[in-house]
Amino acid sequence: MILDCAVIGGGPAGLNATLVLGRSRRKTILFDDNKPRNAVTSESHGFITRDGINPQEFKKVAQEELSRYSDVRIEKQRVHRINKKKHLIRGGDRKWGSIQCEKDYSRRVKEFYGKSLFSCPFCVGWELRDRPLAVIAEDHKALHMAKMVSNWTNDLIIFTNGNKILSLEEQELLNSYGIRINEKKIAAFIGEEGMLDKIQLEDNTTVFREGGFIAAEWKPAASFETTLGYTLNEQGGIATDSLQRTNTEGVFACGDTRIAGPSQLIIAAGEGSMAAIAVNAELIEEKFNEYKQQA
Ligand SMILES: Cc1cc2nc3c(=O)[nH]c(=O)nc-3n(C[C@H](O)[C@H](O)[C@H](O)COP(=O)(O)OP(=O)(O)OC[C@H]3O[C@@H](n4cnc5c(N)ncnc54)[C@H](O)[C@@H]3O)c2cc1C
Repeated sequence: MILDCAVIGGGPAGLNATLVLGRSRRKTILFDDNKPRNAVTSESHGFITRDGINPQEFKKVAQEELSRYSDVRIEKQRVHRINKKKHLIRGGDRKWGSIQCEKDYSRRVKEFYGKSLFSCPFCVGWELRDRPLAVIAEDHKALHMAKMVSNWTNDLIIFTNGNKILSLEEQELLNSYGIRINEKKIAAFIGEEGMLDKIQLEDNTTVFREGGFIAAEWKPAASFETTLGYTLNEQGGIATDSLQRTNTEGVFACGDTRIAGPSQLIIAAGEGSMAAIAVNAELIEEKFNEYKQQA
């Protein structure tokens, strides 16, 4: 099959791009090795008509919809290298945030990540509303995250894991809104099957918390070799304009591959749609230019 467009990554970004391309009669191949960013979660929230859906079910429904379009082919495999010929859309894929700290602490966070500790209040703030929550942060992101999370609960403690990160003024501001700050080192997260119950501190005291949010450091996943030469943005994501175009002609990026920070399925899908529309516009323009050149 001679292709119009290859889409790499079949998360919401790549799936929606493929849908719009398929509906535009573009011969499109979608590669996906099914390692989505939200693999640790069992429910995704905030996507209208799909609120609370299991991420794998979301993917299944999307692939069923794509199967209606004869110009679309799905390849369930990883792309290791790209030599660009024509249009390419790079869908999301970003490693979840990592916390720079002692190995053991990081490993323990992992047991709770996606079950009772999360990185995005907009994804699960509603589910955790009014509960005793923690914000776990080792740098100044604590302030922003705590302000955000306070939208969903009045019982909030920031745990800085032994770091002094907030000025006196900031501490006073947070305290005046009932947000407490604990600067002791964290010894352990205690709970069963990923559901947090207590945070144990260096002095063996424990603090009851049912869940919380981690102000994470985001790192893009370098998932394949490429000589495409697109520019990265300040946070290490792929830089694009508002039509999802990179600075390499014919290469588009959408979804979490270009955003450094918490994002949303619906934003990724929207960007996928925008990328596909922009690809179409370019291909249509190319077609009419060919005629002009022949005339
Ligand atoms: C714990 C957690 C919970 C979340 N909860 C929510 C929520 O409730 N609601 C919400 O809106 N958002 C949520 N998010 C954010 C959401 O998961 C992302 O914004 C969204 O998945 C981004 O979509 P995407 O298509 O850009 O990337 P992804 O969903 O990560 O999909 C990328 C796909 O591309 C594939 N891929 C990557 N590289 C290659 C390659 N070289 N070859 C082939 N395939 C490749 C990957 O395997 C993957 O299947 C959550 C995120 C996390 C980490």
